[in-house]
Amino acid sequence: MKINLSKFKGIAFDLDDTLIDRKKAFDKLCIKLSEDFDCFNHFSKKEALKYFWGLNSFNDFNIKSSLQQINKDFHNFGLSYQEFYDYYYKNMSEIVEAYEGASHLLDKLIEKKINFGIVTNGSHYQYQKIKNTGLENKHNFVIASEIFGHSKPKKEIFLETLRLLNLTVKEVENVVFIGDNPYTDIIGAQSIGMKTIWISMGRKYPEALDPPNYIIENIKELDI
Ligand SMILES: [Mg+2]
Repeated sequence: MKINLSKFKGIAFDLDDTLIDRKKAFDKLCIKLSEDFDCFNHFSKKEALKYFWGLNSFNDFNIKSSLQQINKDFHNFGLSYQEFYDYYYKNMSEIVEAYEGASHLLDKLIEKKINFGIVTNGSHYQYQKIKNTGLENKHNFVIASEIFGHSKPKKEIFLETLRLLNLTVKEVENVVFIGDNPYTDIIGAQSIGMKTIWISMGRKYPEALDPPNYIIENIKELDI
């Protein structure tokens, strides 16, 4: 399905697995982890992918719970929370690449003067990812939740998005939020009345949740 974005007054994109390929970067990080730490050295490539992907839930790598699981399974991993946090985000921001077509899509939005931003859960490392993937000057604003003070799906971050789009609450239905995570991106955007586009990446939308307005496989289905 092709969706034409020019009908919206404002657009907000999630970053990881929406504009940039976190999935592919995480595959590479699994291999790097098995090379960098003795306790994972015995993993084959396949085993490394299976183990570290097993720590993810819905494309979200939680540092704290993953570290707890690693410490349960291996007694000599040795990194503190902060060290593992920095290892993970520093490496991911260096490995990650933009999805094919992302840069061109944002260029076209700028050309058409459609106001849009990037709204992402994370810290200053998210700015590093944006820079390293060549998307640095291709947006009107970026909100990184750990700097802003509220994370998706909290209403506060979506209301801030609306404010930065220079739109009022009355215009909220003319805004679309595009993201891959049902529990943060879609639920949050729906909670203030934004339209939603879910990036399925081949997954099925959770049946217990209110469905998004549109479902696409990836951003190649977005047009302007
Ligand atoms: Mg995401």
